[in-house]
Amino acid sequence: MQQIRQYVETRKEQLKAQIAKLERAPFLVIVQVNDDEASNTYIRGKLADAAEVGINAELLKLPTTISEGELLDEITALNHDNSVDGFIVQMPLPKHISEEKVKQAVGPSKDVDGFHPMSLFNPCTPLGVMNYLTEQGVSFEGKNALVIGRSNIVGKPMAKLLLQANANVTVVHSRTKEKDLRNYVKNADIIVVAVGIKHFLNKTFTYKKEAIVVDVGINRQAGITYGDAESDLPIYFQTPVPGGVGLLTRLTLLENLLEGYNNGI
Ligand code: NAP
Repeated sequence: MQQIRQYVETRKEQLKAQIAKLERAPFLVIVQVNDDEASNTYIRGKLADAAEVGINAELLKLPTTISEGELLDEITALNHDNSVDGFIVQMPLPKHISEEKVKQAVGPSKDVDGFHPMSLFNPCTPLGVMNYLTEQGVSFEGKNALVIGRSNIVGKPMAKLLLQANANVTVVHSRTKEKDLRNYVKNADIIVVAVGIKHFLNKTFTYKKEAIVVDVGINRQAGITYGDAESDLPIYFQTPVPGGVGLLTRLTLLENLLEGYNNGI
């Protein structure tokens, strides 16, 4: 399997060439309503990615004192602004603003994060994972796919995409009994782990030797980022952390935006 870093670089070159041929640069707006350091880092990354492929990206930084109603008005304005091909609202939001209301307010045709239930887009992380695995020639049909974690932005949409690709999908979560989890892991061909616990999947589990593990986890401890899976598992392939799924997520935002641009013309 091709390393993710290399795959992402190639895809970015392709996107850049596609975008260079468009009549105008696609336009992405990133709305930020926090002073969060991690968010600042993510946003810097997204702006740099956009610039790299020729997407025009703008940060709309709003005061954290903004009321929920005022933020919803800003979102409505972006929904109606024809020059904007897509926009995202960086989480987290201040406590006095409902994340759910904000996610629901983003118009489905501009929701390039794919958080709205009616969004025209799939969420970036699971779609990025599917695109990568598909591009690598991984076959899903009739394979046992195990998704560990059931969040709305990773686990659930991941399970949906794997099911669409005709895998036999099992989703486990915090209420799954350990004995059952170990059995599911043992029989899985493809495992996507997204729980947010350092080295949740480790060498105490038994794996199929041809298994693939996709590690979504990002766990920071003392300045070091760890995945949800221990490295060097006795399997066919596992995605690294860092330099793995995070890069796919960032790439897919660009791909979704380009799709938004194409839908709008
Ligand atoms: P989340 O909303 O906190 O969901 C975590 C899921 O893990 C929940 O469904 C939870 O089950 C399950 N879980 C927790 N403890 C478990 C256990 N002991 N056994 C089995 N399942 C357990 O997290 P998320 O947003 O999906 O993110 C998961 C991880 O991926 C985090 O580290 C996050 O930072 C990372 N992430 C990375 C990217 C990327 O681009 N690389 C993108 C998004 C997220 P319940 O539903 O029963 O509580």
